[in-house]
Amino acid sequence: MVTATRAFGCEVLADEPTPSPISQPGAPVVWAQTRTLLLDDESTAYGCVHCDYVSRNVLSIRPHLSKHKPRETRQNGHGSNGHAVNGNGSVAALLAQLGTLNEVTKDRDHWKTRALRAERLVKAVRDAVGGKA
Ligand SMILES: [Zn+2]
Repeated sequence: MVTATRAFGCEVLADEPTPSPISQPGAPVVWAQTRTLLLDDESTAYGCVHCDYVSRNVLSIRPHLSKHKPRETRQNGHGSNGHAVNGNGSVAALLAQLGTLNEVTKDRDHWKTRALRAERLVKAVRDAVGGKA
């Protein structure tokens, strides 16, 4: 799928990006995906950079370009936001893992506290029996 090489029965002589009407002097803005096609009858047509869609109306190219947008940005269609769902799934899984990690950390601290208390108890017992326990 490439820009048309023939349009309206004419051969395309030149294929250039289209200067946008929002261009400012010294700050040109071009629609790279809307090609200005110079035909061999010296007329001008406009074409899609992705396929052979052509129109005499420059403004009809931009709506057409939405056909070539990546699936992820579409509102409907199967798997259209599969990427995002997977991404969210990964984040959710990560958060779940972090939650588990928190529990483990809490648990570890709990056992550490108990271990320290037990150590102190053992020391107290040792002290009580003259350090010979
Ligand atoms: Zn197209």
